[in-house]
Amino acid sequence: MLTVLSGGTGTPKLLQGLARLVGMGKISVIVNTAEDVEVSGLKVTPDLDTVMYTLAGIVNEETWYGIRGDTFTCHEMLKQLGEPELLRIGDRDRAVKLRRTLGLKQGKPLSEVTQELCEQLGVRASVLPMSDDRVQTRVDTEAGTMQFHEFWVRRRAADKVKDVSFEGVEEAKPAPGVLEAIKTAKAIIIGPSNPVTSIGPILAIEDIREEIIRNRERVVAVSPIVGSAAVSGPAGELMRGLGYRVNPLGVAKMYRGIIGTLVLDWSDRGRARAVEEFGINAAFADLLMPNIASRVRLAREVLGIARIR
Ligand code: GDP
Repeated sequence: MLTVLSGGTGTPKLLQGLARLVGMGKISVIVNTAEDVEVSGLKVTPDLDTVMYTLAGIVNEETWYGIRGDTFTCHEMLKQLGEPELLRIGDRDRAVKLRRTLGLKQGKPLSEVTQELCEQLGVRASVLPMSDDRVQTRVDTEAGTMQFHEFWVRRRAADKVKDVSFEGVEEAKPAPGVLEAIKTAKAIIIGPSNPVTSIGPILAIEDIREEIIRNRERVVAVSPIVGSAAVSGPAGELMRGLGYRVNPLGVAKMYRGIIGTLVLDWSDRGRARAVEEFGINAAFADLLMPNIASRVRLAREVLGIARIR
């Protein structure tokens, strides 16, 4: 009934609210996989894990990464043994990643292993990787071209961005269920995720982009930018590097031709007319979601804007 496009921080907050209001069973989530990376031999797919853990009620809400209350014994030991461990992976979190890697080694596609993990974690929503094919975000900076994690985790977005590309995206096909989820949804919600590196790769898959455009009138995006800054993360640096202004108009420009409605924060209400000049309806809500009450409240407003409730 409801299909949500997601990265791994802003949209999961909204998903908590949506799941409370409509129930997990009525939600499909199409998740970015272009930040997937191998760490100590394990397939790490950060956004899929965060979405799964969020819906399973076990996500670490301080970092929107990993499992709440996890321990790091294995991580510490691996470091001692000289493994670089670019990402700090907890013990329980590692078990999930190990289980995924074993499934993939048996020849199962990522979408099938994800479905199994969801069943085992009690997640009734349909969590779909955008693709079973490998797509990798590359950030081209003044210090050279690097993987997204190198840019963000290791170098803290310190390098000036020149371009962003998604290796493998031309050949990538949507994972099973993705196009159906878009076609059959009452509303398609592009959550408040990084428009460049979280939503960008999903929309860069041609078949997905075309299906979204066909259903454009039912597509509602929630801005991850309030005022002139991202709420968190490197979206501002990335948008600026690609020549977009870091404000809701920059978001509108990126989503022009793709979405029907953009939800802006009330504090940006002066931008309504400029958003509408992009052929996008402007709607307003309180976009900051520091706690569960604000997540439910925003979810309710978004459902209203999408005419679900
Ligand atoms: P990533 O995969 O960890 O990069 O996470 P996402 O792309 O899903 O989320 C990052 C984006 O979420 C950033 O651009 C933030 O501005 C946005 N974000 C985080 N918290 C909030 C919030 O409370 N409200 C809104 N509107 N956006 C948020």
